[in-house]
Amino acid sequence: MNHPWLADRTQTIDSSGIRKVFDLAAKLKDPVNLSIGQPDFDVPAEVQQTCIDAIQSGKNGYALTQGMPVLRDKLQASVDASYGHNDRKVFVSSGTSGGLVLAMWSLVNPGDEVIVFDPYFVMYEPLVSLVGGTPVMINTYPTFRIDVNRVADAITSRTKLIVLNSPANPTGAVISEEEVRDLAQLAAERGVVLLSDEIYRLFCYGQTFHSPATWNEQTLVIDGFSKSHAMTGWRLGFVHGPAAVIDEMVKLQQYTFVCAPHPAQWSGAVAMDIDMSDAVSDYQRKRDLLVKGISDCFELTEPGGAFYAFPKVPCGTGTEFVQRAIEKNLLIIPGNIFSRQDTHFRISYAAEDEAILRGVELLRQLAK
Ligand code: PMP
Repeated sequence: MNHPWLADRTQTIDSSGIRKVFDLAAKLKDPVNLSIGQPDFDVPAEVQQTCIDAIQSGKNGYALTQGMPVLRDKLQASVDASYGHNDRKVFVSSGTSGGLVLAMWSLVNPGDEVIVFDPYFVMYEPLVSLVGGTPVMINTYPTFRIDVNRVADAITSRTKLIVLNSPANPTGAVISEEEVRDLAQLAAERGVVLLSDEIYRLFCYGQTFHSPATWNEQTLVIDGFSKSHAMTGWRLGFVHGPAAVIDEMVKLQQYTFVCAPHPAQWSGAVAMDIDMSDAVSDYQRKRDLLVKGISDCFELTEPGGAFYAFPKVPCGTGTEFVQRAIEKNLLIIPGNIFSRQDTHFRISYAAEDEAILRGVELLRQLAK
């Protein structure tokens, strides 16, 4: 990170914490790995076959910048059916991450403030900093609920954007219908853009998913197939929002990502018709297995979605706790990777039941 060629902006990003965890982890033989942020089920067979067929039938050139009609039109019809907004337009992005990058480039001026709820997904802070924005953190410990009054107080004349992620990484928190509605209305009243990262939309347990776009027509929604269909390596996402914003994002995509992977788009169209409810039920069962196993030993807000739990460490810092876990061959992530504070740790239960049960046993020993 100290080479004379490097631009100053590279210094705004610190990835030393997570690197330390991966360095330690690399030394482990056959660890109990509860650190992975992706599904442990495979891409549905029809989706795989569609991609193979697409490749073999020559769909290997550039795709249209905004996405191939086979997928984009289908997404547009689905979004129109859900929201019925006149001005809501969809484009296909290179993963949800690609959508996030283009959103920051398109919306945030240097000096603009971007409200982020802490704990947060790791990418939000560096993406805001890279475009010269200032992340403004709202601490949501210990319940990870969103207090709309605190958001109202955090809004200044420089506030451009509020980033919402529910169900959330790393906490698994799903905010209630009332919280989503109030936040959506606040953003509309105050003229602040609301960006909703809905990548875990499908993974809601015993409760219905609510998008702020239901109450705020200007909401910019970022979504994708990485988690819902285990397609993390396929880089297929989509974005919908006000047409003028989408058009600018597509323009920037043309000069950066160019397009989302072409064969994957044919698969995305097929994936949209596949019922993933068995996979979701299975993850709900895994959530219950984990929560039942550790909730008497750790302070834990029960996660309502995604595939993460975010307990508090019994003593010391999250980093120290994770070091002790790694000594026991258990891989988890310290909370300071996702937060300004170092008091919690993230468990991913996107894993075999056996790994979850072994993890529970090790965590119980560590809590003592
Ligand atoms: N948003 C959140 C909240 C995530 O957890 C992730 C993946 N870990 C992403 C976005 C990025 O997903 P993608 O693979 O679609 O780029």
